[in-house]
Amino acid sequence: MYASGYLWREEKFSVNRSNRAFLNQAFWGQISIVLGTICFNSLLFKYYLNMKIFDISIPLNPDLPVWPGDPRIVLEQYQTIESGHASNNSKLACGVHSGTHVDAPSHFIKDGITVDQLPLDVLIGPAFVADFPKAETVTPDSLEALDLQRETTRLIIKTRNSALWSDPHHVFNPNFVAINPEAANWVVNRGIRLIGIDYLSIQRYKDPEPLTHRILLEAGVVIVEGLCLQSVNAGIYTLICLPIKLSGSEGAPARSVLIEE
Ligand SMILES: [Zn+2]
Repeated sequence: MYASGYLWREEKFSVNRSNRAFLNQAFWGQISIVLGTICFNSLLFKYYLNMKIFDISIPLNPDLPVWPGDPRIVLEQYQTIESGHASNNSKLACGVHSGTHVDAPSHFIKDGITVDQLPLDVLIGPAFVADFPKAETVTPDSLEALDLQRETTRLIIKTRNSALWSDPHHVFNPNFVAINPEAANWVVNRGIRLIGIDYLSIQRYKDPEPLTHRILLEAGVVIVEGLCLQSVNAGIYTLICLPIKLSGSEGAPARSVLIEE
């Protein structure tokens, strides 16, 4: 009886010792997880606190200038709470190249992919904003002078065009700044996959042929047009540009933002 009692106590003791070691390990394990989570969350919080988001989209409204010949933008309420309906409901009619928008390859290339097929990893990611305040045309020389980092694959071009959007109801201005076909070739050869500009076309109004569009779209470069970059300085940002997923369309309006870290 005594012996078995002794053995029982020893057994119990040894079980307790290993339990304690296990509990100790579990305790410190939990503490490290909690501390790790706190550190990670505070870093994340600091990141979100410090980041600045620039909305580079033009508000779509019926008074916005559109490309000559394109339909005007119609946004109207067909039911209103004021007139006794339970909710406000609106309808929108406009060209897909209205305001801030994306051109997909099928805009100028037969059998090119459409806007709903554009790869999201091109539309989202690091982008370089280049500022050409005095340029009349963006040329390969002006692009070469940027001395872009090798990994740059998204290029946003800011020009005097952006100032035009301070009056969002201005009459379409055909003297906007754009890139020439040689610059389009430079963009393709440099491996740029997305190019953006701050007026309604990436190519000059007076160009007799749509060469700039064709060169870019043939190579699968995504074109973003109608950006407003007034409040953005040159530099590196994270671009998020999401065109409406219009099935089979060659373009679509796109809410676009730049995030500065
Ligand atoms: Zn377009």
